[in-house]
Amino acid sequence: LAERLQGTIQKIKGKGLVTEQDVKAMMREVRLALIEADVNLKVVKEFVKKVSERAVGSEVMKSLTPGQQVIKIVQDELTLLMGGEQSPIKFNTKPPTVIMMVGLQGAGKTTTTGKLANVLRKKYNRKPLLVAADIYRPAAIQQLETLGKQLSIPVFALGTEVSPVEIARQALEHAKEEHHDVVIIDTAGRLHIDETLMDELKNIKALKEPDEVFLVVDAMTGQDAVNVAQSFNETIGITGVVLTKLDGDTRGGAALSIRAVTEKPIKFVGMGEKMDALETFHPERMASRILGMGDVLSLIEKAQANVDMEKAKELEEKFMSQSFTLDDFVEQLQAVKKMGPLEDMLKMLPGANKIKGLDNVKVDEKHMGRVEAIIYSMTKAEKNHPEIMNASRKKRIAQGSGTSVQEVNRLLKQFEDMKKMMKQMTGMTQGKGKKKMKL
Ligand code: GDP
Ligand code: MG
Repeated sequence: LAERLQGTIQKIKGKGLVTEQDVKAMMREVRLALIEADVNLKVVKEFVKKVSERAVGSEVMKSLTPGQQVIKIVQDELTLLMGGEQSPIKFNTKPPTVIMMVGLQGAGKTTTTGKLANVLRKKYNRKPLLVAADIYRPAAIQQLETLGKQLSIPVFALGTEVSPVEIARQALEHAKEEHHDVVIIDTAGRLHIDETLMDELKNIKALKEPDEVFLVVDAMTGQDAVNVAQSFNETIGITGVVLTKLDGDTRGGAALSIRAVTEKPIKFVGMGEKMDALETFHPERMASRILGMGDVLSLIEKAQANVDMEKAKELEEKFMSQSFTLDDFVEQLQAVKKMGPLEDMLKMLPGANKIKGLDNVKVDEKHMGRVEAIIYSMTKAEKNHPEIMNASRKKRIAQGSGTSVQEVNRLLKQFEDMKKMMKQMTGMTQGKGKKKMKL
């Protein structure tokens, strides 16, 4: 999806004047891109209609940068399509909060149950109880117990002989006695939606109205994920969606259609099999990731505006020839500081969605001051050849800058990483038309 849109964006970006014809051509591309990404057809039609209306409207034509304005509209509408705002977890004012996980077999319910418990404990400081209510799938209970052990979070299980409804009922009592403030019920799935399963889920739901019913769907299944979401929503009612396996090779269409079709928000996305691979879903960030390349362009524009061109050229040559030193690094840091909040800059980098935990990155400007202090405490030789750094040099630098050896180590590591990244970026700009994208 991203690739296709990016091509169009490149074309329209620099336009000083956007005619209705241009908008039409671009909308054709957007339409194709969305269809290729497996976005629901009805959703595509409405989306294109909305964007077109806004794009030929006066707000664009009057603007000084119509090309960018159109892209902004596409981004806005993508964000709206995915729900606009990030949707938080609804907690019960009278604990325990009950969260029920539902979905087809293999969607990732059990895995997500573990991940969610982990998030609830870490981020929300809660004391969750996991409930093994899938008595059908072989070893399903064991799977949850293993995750529980790994996370040191208790799992309530009664084996496979007790009915899921009874398990859930007793689990709720147990949670009260043990003062668990969140109960997450991992239910059974089937390969296809069937009535017996739906009845069972309805009965569990009827015990005590859950605060959240999270439907877990596999993003890799594209349109099917949307159909599944629709039928679960109609038959048992869901409050939110967890889209799993977004780390895989998905076309991403599900993320765009689910909200529009079910009117229920995507709350989290699964980005891997590990217990820390659950991310809060932010529609706006998702939209800018989809338009990834557009972001890189604006990043480079910002950089161009703030770094003096001569210097930029010099730096580029240094990256290329690998003679980029820590002195250059400090200079670069100062230029970067002028560009605005670093977190935003980081998110604009290509592949940023693949960097784990970037969502939680907070770049501390004070920290940058310390980094500068460390570099200023180095000798010329150390700055030019950081590989000569040994324990005693590091200790001296740490003392000189009022920091610690760990911080010095971290900086050296970051510097190496940055060098690698810069090398990649220069590689990229070289590949794609030097004129426009020089950094
Ligand atoms: P359930 O039948 O719905 O309970 O599904 P499981 O939790 O057992 O998950 C099925 C498979 O999908 C397991 O192998 C999981 O490790 C895998 N899985 C779940 N979520 C993700 C995810 O976000 N990314 C990836 N790559 N794999 C996942
Ligand atoms: Mg399961």
